[in-house]
Parts: sequence; C-alpha cells; structure tokens
Amino acid sequence: MQPRCVFCGIVSGSSSAEVVHRDDLVTAFRDRFPQAPVHILVVPNRHVSGIGDLGEEDTPLIGGMIAVANDLASQEGLAQDGYRLVINQGSAAGQSVFHLHLHLLGGRQLGWPPG
Ligand code: AMP
Repeated sequence: MQPRCVFCGIVSGSSSAEVVHRDDLVTAFRDRFPQAPVHILVVPNRHVSGIGDLGEEDTPLIGGMIAVANDLASQEGLAQDGYRLVINQGSAAGQSVFHLHLHLLGGRQLGWPPG
C-alpha cells in the first residue's frame, strides 16, 4: 500500500471503482476513461510500480493477472472475436499510473500498430 497511489486506494476500497474481480493476488476494475467498449484494468494487490520491477519470483503474479484477464474476457463475451492485453512500462510507453496494471481491451476492432 503506497500513500497517494490511486490504484492502491481502489484495491483497499478507499477509492471508488467498478470492481469486477478480487482475489488474494489481484483486483480488476473498469477503466475510468475507457478506450474500448470493454476496458478493464487488472492490478496486483500489492504496490508494484511497473512490470519492469518484477522478477522471476513473481511468475505466479504475472500468470494470475493473465488468467484473470482471460476469464474476464470470456465473461465479457470477447473470447470469440478477440481482445488485447497491454502493459505499458514507463513514460515513453504511455504509462501514466505507476502501479502495475494490465489493460484488457475489446468489443471493437482494435488498430495496429498503436500510436
Ligand atoms: P497507463 O496509461 O497504461 O498507465 O494506464 C492508466 C489507466 O488508468 C488509463 O487508462 C486511465 O484511464 C486509468 N485510470 C486512471 N485513474 C483511474 C481511476 N481512478 N479508476 C479507473 N481507471 C483509472
């Protein structure tokens, strides 16, 4: 738990969000400014600044984040048409919230490459 971290606040319940999944490792909630009809963020419950801060010992966490995102994609009806999982690492990649998060995006045709 990092003071003033918005995603730590959502994990702890002190900040509001539409939470769609919670377990011992991760919390998932809808993005406040969605870029697609389905835009969900999957975050570790413990504060980690970004994917670059994880090591080999965090493999269960990374696997758990992806497994939750896949389950949510199915629940949201995205499994057949497809969806995108994105992690931005650092400001050059567009990371704006420095609490690791995996974006689950879907529900429309997504362009490639990203801008
Ligand atoms: P990134 O640019 O990869 O760091 O993504 C951060 C994401 O967090 C953006 O898509 C924002 O719209 C989203 N976001 C920021 N604040 C909140 C919030 N309080 N609740 C939900 N999503 C948020």
